[in-house]
Amino acid sequence: MSIRQLPEDLINRIAAGEVVERPASVVKELVENAIDAGASKIVITTAGGGKTQIRIEDDGCGMDEADLILSVERHATSKLQADDLDDIRTLGFRGEALASIGSVSDLAVSSRPDGAESGLRLEVRRGVKRGPVPQAMNKGTILDVRNLFAAVPARLKFLKTDRAEAAAITDTVKRLAMANPHVHFVLDGSDRSTLNWPGITGEGALAARLSQVMGDDFSENAAPLGFARHGIVVAGLAGLPTYSRANSLSQFYFVNGRSVRDKVLLGAVRAAYADFVFRDRFPVIALFVAVDPAEVDVNVHPAKAELRFKDQGAVRGAVIRAIQEALAAAGFRASNTVAE
Ligand code: ADP
Ligand code: MG
Repeated sequence: MSIRQLPEDLINRIAAGEVVERPASVVKELVENAIDAGASKIVITTAGGGKTQIRIEDDGCGMDEADLILSVERHATSKLQADDLDDIRTLGFRGEALASIGSVSDLAVSSRPDGAESGLRLEVRRGVKRGPVPQAMNKGTILDVRNLFAAVPARLKFLKTDRAEAAAITDTVKRLAMANPHVHFVLDGSDRSTLNWPGITGEGALAARLSQVMGDDFSENAAPLGFARHGIVVAGLAGLPTYSRANSLSQFYFVNGRSVRDKVLLGAVRAAYADFVFRDRFPVIALFVAVDPAEVDVNVHPAKAELRFKDQGAVRGAVIRAIQEALAAAGFRASNTVAE
């Protein structure tokens, strides 16, 4: 056996296994790109649970020809200008999504930046690039992903039914919409999963978006979170103990605008509700934590759903306090409030 350097296309396909697990992960990466591009409206269309097609159109900044060509290359990103992994303020930064998606699908990227007379369209068919060629379109970017994993039977086999994949896409879009109230989201899943949430700005935008996404029922049975200490800001809505659920599907956690799974936050929520909710019940909550980007490492996993706080104790304390104060204001006073 001898060692060989792997060809680029194969490297991309290996990376794709980490970045794009299923159609919903493609939607997440592409919508995050649109948000990073400053879009105010994002239209997501899917067919066959995203396996047949995922199309994402945004009205963001767009890309010129040179950027369009670079965008589908591996490790090509416009977002890490200072080479500083401790100061990440965008959702993306790894420069892997488009290269990975292009290696396991038929991808077309069309883009028209401000001031350009027309758009350009670049195709990547299972890793092979073609174009760019002129394309009539509005300002912004359109990503069109067809036949995801068609050439990766092993991966295709692990996908669930169209309906289950469509449901995962809806969940992903919900989380992205909750974290970005100013953006107008349209999701057309060609089945029942049709959503249309106009963008909201100004005071109360987050609460209004949470009502759109989680329903008025939740908003009417929740207490607003508003707490800040030592640079940790906690916001969102904490469901009243009387509004708990049998599973954790209605718990949403965000750190610096990113939907996350995190043991520190889960533990803090459990502790804050311990006096009011039985151990087998789950409070409904939309919890938004903001910390200095230098205080959190998001570069733990390629999908960035996991993170690491530098000062876990401070975050835990702030979240518990935030929830206990909100619940106390709504008449639920804990026996053991956390000491300062
Ligand atoms: P990352 O988001 O980590 O930078 P991606 O592979 O997702 O990597 O995207 C590569 C680059 O392509 C981005 O840094 C950005 O410059 C550009 N790009 C991708 N999607 C869009 C979009 N919707 N609008 C404008 N630029 C985009
Ligand atoms: Mg990206």
